[in-house]
Amino acid sequence: MNASRIWNPWDDLIVPALLPPLCPCCQRALPSFQNNALAGQSESLVAPEASQGHLKAAMTVLKSLLPIPAQTDLCADCRRRLPFIKENYCLQCGARIEKGEEYCAECQETPHSFEEARALFSYSQEVSSMILAFKNKGERSTGEWLGREMGVAFRETIALWKITRVIPIPLLPSKKKERGYNQAEILASHIVKENGNLLLDTTSLIRIRKAKEQKTLGAKERLLNLLDVFAVQGSFSRAEHILLVDDVLTTGSTLDVCARLLLEAGAGAVYALVAARA
Ligand SMILES: [Zn+2]
Ligand SMILES: [Zn+2]
Repeated sequence: MNASRIWNPWDDLIVPALLPPLCPCCQRALPSFQNNALAGQSESLVAPEASQGHLKAAMTVLKSLLPIPAQTDLCADCRRRLPFIKENYCLQCGARIEKGEEYCAECQETPHSFEEARALFSYSQEVSSMILAFKNKGERSTGEWLGREMGVAFRETIALWKITRVIPIPLLPSKKKERGYNQAEILASHIVKENGNLLLDTTSLIRIRKAKEQKTLGAKERLLNLLDVFAVQGSFSRAEHILLVDDVLTTGSTLDVCARLLLEAGAGAVYALVAARA
């Protein structure tokens, strides 16, 4: 069957066009697309050579009618299995904690500069793989899905916090150029889209230099290390409630420094949403 194949509209046009969106976690085709007749029967629908001309014309029409590729989403299995944080979280940093407690041990000891942060997931192996695929392997669709998921999951939280402006944690321009995008900006733009009239602000907070290695530093040293990494351009009114967006919250020092700078520039309060709480 594979001998010097001729142009085959099913394999060369229809199937790629209808290529089903995959679950960003397990990479399996989403069930609603698995039964798609066109996508599922490509092998048995090879057109005879004589009808190629007609098929080409038909395919051109069909292609123009095809919808925009469907958005990716979690399959039902992954949605059940992944560690969404919906309850029992630290009221400041969003980390999962024991039932009945209000704050995690770290936040009890050293409160953060931001009011509250919430995370969509705990940082499991699978969540980490998805975020790394998005950050380092160009899987933008995974980030777009994460942003939509965050936007929907935290709609009430965003309303409760009275957010007026959404600011993604910036990358150095050189880093953004190298990666092709700022992952936090993709998350933020989809959170904004899911929440009506929020303002997306990618210019007020900037990253002006590279941070020194953080791993060996304690909490206070991390803050000092980051203080001259970011800068705020302009000022805010006290009525501004700013939502910072980042992919992962580990120690919170990046969010702390950015929150501190935004508060110094006049903002009334700073909150944060992240995809995962490490
Ligand atoms: Zn899945
Ligand atoms: Zn905490």
